[in-house]
Amino acid sequence: MSSLSAKSSGVAMFPEFKECRVLIVGLGLIGGSLAAALKKRHVCREIIAWDRDPQSLILAKEKGITDSSADSLEAGVAAADIVVLAVPVLAMAEMVRAVATFNLAGKVVTDVGSCKQDVVVAARECFGDALAGFVPGHPIAGSEKSGITAAKADLYEAHKVIVTPLPENAVGASRLVRSLWESVGALVLEMEVEHHDQVLARTSHLPHLLAFSLVDTLAGDRDSQDIFRYAAGGFRDFTRIAASDPTMWHDVFVANRDALLEALDEFSQGLQHMYAAVEQGDSRAMTGIITRAKSAREHFTRMLESQSYLKSMSSQSSITYVARPGGTATGTLRVPGDKSISHRSIMLGALADGKTEVTGFLEGEDALATLQAFRDMGVVIEGPSDGRVTIYGVGLHGLQAPPGPLYLGNAGTAMRLMAGLMAAQKFDVTLTGDESLSRRPMNRVVNPLREMGAEIETTEGGRPPLVIRGGHQLSGIDYDMPMASAQVKSCLLLAGLYADGETVVQEPGITRDHTERMLSGLGYQVASDGGRVSVQGGGRLTSAEVIEVPSDISSAAFFLVAGSIAKDAELLLSHVGINPTRTGVIDILQLMGADITLENQREVGGEPVADIRVRSAQLKGIEIPEELVPLAIDEFPVLFVAASCAEGDTLLKGAEELRVKESDRIQSMADGLNALGIKAVALPDGMKVPGCTDQGVFAGGTVHSHGDHRIAMAFAVASLRARDDIRILDCANVATSFPNFVDLAHSVGLNLVETES
Ligand code: NAP
Repeated sequence: MSSLSAKSSGVAMFPEFKECRVLIVGLGLIGGSLAAALKKRHVCREIIAWDRDPQSLILAKEKGITDSSADSLEAGVAAADIVVLAVPVLAMAEMVRAVATFNLAGKVVTDVGSCKQDVVVAARECFGDALAGFVPGHPIAGSEKSGITAAKADLYEAHKVIVTPLPENAVGASRLVRSLWESVGALVLEMEVEHHDQVLARTSHLPHLLAFSLVDTLAGDRDSQDIFRYAAGGFRDFTRIAASDPTMWHDVFVANRDALLEALDEFSQGLQHMYAAVEQGDSRAMTGIITRAKSAREHFTRMLESQSYLKSMSSQSSITYVARPGGTATGTLRVPGDKSISHRSIMLGALADGKTEVTGFLEGEDALATLQAFRDMGVVIEGPSDGRVTIYGVGLHGLQAPPGPLYLGNAGTAMRLMAGLMAAQKFDVTLTGDESLSRRPMNRVVNPLREMGAEIETTEGGRPPLVIRGGHQLSGIDYDMPMASAQVKSCLLLAGLYADGETVVQEPGITRDHTERMLSGLGYQVASDGGRVSVQGGGRLTSAEVIEVPSDISSAAFFLVAGSIAKDAELLLSHVGINPTRTGVIDILQLMGADITLENQREVGGEPVADIRVRSAQLKGIEIPEELVPLAIDEFPVLFVAASCAEGDTLLKGAEELRVKESDRIQSMADGLNALGIKAVALPDGMKVPGCTDQGVFAGGTVHSHGDHRIAMAFAVASLRARDDIRILDCANVATSFPNFVDLAHSVGLNLVETES
């Protein structure tokens, strides 16, 4: 075998893992389990063992988990291609020194120790050139038991192993260690040595220390008999790890002393806060700690299960809808809460004085990101649970510096609105988002905020992360918006709450006015005159006590069309927001002859709301008035379905914005309609859709939603007038705006099945 002297020697110098002889030094729980796993899977050439206790070697042979035992450590190393050191942490450095005295040419050495610093220091001292082949590792798997008798062949399956390669390592060496662990079913991650010890101090060593300490303290209590006799499940869960191997944990606490003490200091501070809150009966502080912990724990669990908040795109990209003909649309339903209003309810509820209960909150990924951001700034928020959220408002000046950057996922609304709020705080904040949000330019809001006196750094092209420097007193401006945008307007109005003087925004066209309405609902005066909206800085927001988020009219639109095109249909959609900046879909459907009536109209928290009744009607084709286009921009996918069932042609123009939504909605819809036999013609800024009065308007077929939730739901509705099954591909993203769409559609009679492939 060739020499292991240089890092550049790379991949070629090491054998394939399946050709390797593996020496395991120390046949305890971890070493024995590795031997058993390698043996069970037949993944390497030979498993050799060495242990200072001959009995362990005999037992391992009897159990059939090793192929041979080495007579001495030196002989074992000489015979092996890979050497795995599986002895206790405090014995590891000495073992490294012993191994370093042998010929290590062409060999890879790794370890399994729970702390990495000491072993790396020892290896650097004595390995010389052979350091290229020393790749430290740490399996995140184990049990309270120790010794060869506790060895399990499946210990590493689906568990993580952290490998901490050194800069000196040959590429082929770290690759071989990775293969070793992957071959027994583990998931290999990489980390730097120091970071490993700090992270593990917090996630593993500190919890063990606390469990030992708690049980020891209670065992010394004079009522200990009773305490243990009547211990509840929580006590058992929390203290399970206090039964772990004493020697091992003693060694870990010694070896990782500094990082552990640092973690213990942080924990002690947290405990002091909790102590003070309990002592002073400070319910708000207690609830804050508990709710933050609960949400962090849930987030952590989801991460472990590799899910995003709502199992969106990445984890469920293979969801297909099969929409069958023969469905109906009858009954009463309430669609999920409005997304725009859900965001604002959290922001303004947090900034109000006093407690606000939110109902109908949309538990979608975006609004949840906003909620988490305010929690990170010290706002106590309970929920969400069934659309209910309780916010303990801190007042306009009560936000606290978050511990790190605020992560806003894919929520463009949150980032733009919060840029305005954060620009006026006393502390620095960094706003970050996912990959797609990080590509969206933020200059639309950053430039006018800078005019107000804000200090904001962006990456190239005005893209996130936004680094917003605190401590700047903003001044009101008179801003002529170059484009109609509710997000820009809202951002500046929110900054204006903190600015000296008046902040005025001039709109070139109608935009959503949810921010103005909610501000007014919370007692903040907003002047609105035609396209001119203004606020005066320096006021305060009083809690509305309850914010009832109305149902989202964009989600209701699918059922407005379903109720119109299905035979003998009648649907009642309750508590739908009918903000005049959003009701274009109702106006357009009524112009087409739809039978839609608004009942029980009322105002809730400044927003107009109604129950909407829709009955079957023969629709007719129209030229859609251009002034209605911005008021129905999200609803055109399903309106094209309605147009296909109308008498005569429908023409839409002036809607080029549809091309830059979640998908190119003009092309996606034209392609889908064509696939179902409708000769729709895509135009640069709209579509011409020929109508048809037959019951079976749409042929069956397969359409692609291109990951666009509204395209997916629109074609599901088309099934009500289809002759055969419509298969709709890539429907996972429906959950971002309408988490229970399939269930609700089912409940009113649509014949819709969701399949996962
Ligand atoms: P274990 O079951 O007690 O086994 C340790 C093995 O090392 C035994 O075979 C023991 O032999 C041998 N040994 C002890 N002192 C030695 C010395 N001074 N020189 C040579 N051999 C010695 O321990 P383990 O749980 O497998 O832990 C082994 C390593 O894995 C430790 O570094 C630990 O940090 C790491 N680890 C453990 C876990 C876990 O949950 N247990 C998880 C991840 C990583 P005797 O039987 O003769 O004492």
